[in-house]
Amino acid sequence: MDKLILIKYGELTTKKGNRNAFIKLLVNNIKSMLKDYEFIIKYDRSRMYIETKDIDEVVNKLKMVFGIHSIVVVYKVNTNTDEICNKVLDIVSNMSFQTFKVDTKRALKSFEIHSMDFNRIVATKLLKNINCKVDVHNPDLLIKIEIRMEGTFIYVNEQLGLGGYPVGIQGKGLLMLSGGIDSPVAGYLALKRGVDLECLYFESPPHTSIQAKNKVMDLTKKINNYSGNIVLNIVPFTKLQEAIYKNVDDSYVITIMRRMMYRIAAKICEKYNYKVIINGESIGQVASQTLTSMYTINSVTNIPIIRPVCCMDKLEIIDIAKKIDTYETSILPYEDCCTIFLPKHPVINPNIEKCLEYEKRFDYESLIDECISNVERISNLNKNNNSLL
Ligand code: ATP
Ligand code: MG
Repeated sequence: MDKLILIKYGELTTKKGNRNAFIKLLVNNIKSMLKDYEFIIKYDRSRMYIETKDIDEVVNKLKMVFGIHSIVVVYKVNTNTDEICNKVLDIVSNMSFQTFKVDTKRALKSFEIHSMDFNRIVATKLLKNINCKVDVHNPDLLIKIEIRMEGTFIYVNEQLGLGGYPVGIQGKGLLMLSGGIDSPVAGYLALKRGVDLECLYFESPPHTSIQAKNKVMDLTKKINNYSGNIVLNIVPFTKLQEAIYKNVDDSYVITIMRRMMYRIAAKICEKYNYKVIINGESIGQVASQTLTSMYTINSVTNIPIIRPVCCMDKLEIIDIAKKIDTYETSILPYEDCCTIFLPKHPVINPNIEKCLEYEKRFDYESLIDECISNVERISNLNKNNNSLL
């Protein structure tokens, strides 16, 4: 095939000891992302080539894979000066540019023409045939030529991949996924660091609707496009939430509710051996996200809680949500269990002793156990039509 896709690895090239494991996982992730296409994949420690007849579609799919620094469509020709010059002319003659630069790398040292001389030969060919100029500092078009043992590769447009680490290299974490804007973005950012996910959603029917649940399923599907393995856990939270509202002073209901959410999330992590909880909290966004609130809520568990959007402005979070196509779903107006019966004056500096006092008033542990034994687990989200409506 004379046209193929070259993939340059992302940050994983800095991880010397783990390099092979990173590359192997990246290859696996690419294979599952491309499961609907025919392709051949070849790789070594520094790069990967994919041969396929569906170049454009495969390139689009590769743009959803973490661990890829850049993606380039390359043309492969024999290492023969005339053939190379003609191919370059052929590739660029339909492109619009005024200035260009040729950048040759001669990995095959036995090739007799040195890189700088080869740059000049190719440039001369273009200058004779096309109305254009050389600009070595700021060219409109950069033409890269790599002369290698297995042939010569020519490419012009290097597209950036998503970067990050291959999903799963860090094991799995549990993402608390509400229907809001922040938590899907938090999930996406965790996936970018190589943390694969399960999602956890607390629902309180009939106070929360089937549409709210469907919305969370849709959001899970959207972030699952970057993983393929995500399972959604749905916790029936109604009884526990009603007990909280019955026994706890209005100002503390959100604090206690979130302590219960953390307790349940931590138990599910223990059950499946997940090492972290991930959520969409952002400092100062609401009363339950002041530093004192976070301290008081977090004190119910020792499991690390990762908050990828913690230090971002809402507008920065929204930018990412739009980029990953979760924003329009997130802003659909269905109530979440955190927004129903929202107290007028939620405490912004809750203290732990008071929480413990309120929690003594009802048998929350058995309610938590009941929640956990009734969790609904939904897998294969992107394969079936799981919409509940
Ligand atoms: P988001 O933060 O996702 O935009 P939100 O702002 O409505 O939604 P907050 O009240 O800010 O949610 O809650 C903070 C975080 O707590 C969420 O980002 C999410 O990780 C978690 N969370 C809130 N409600 C739920 C829920 N019903 N199920 C699972 N996790 C939840
Ligand atoms: Mg939020």
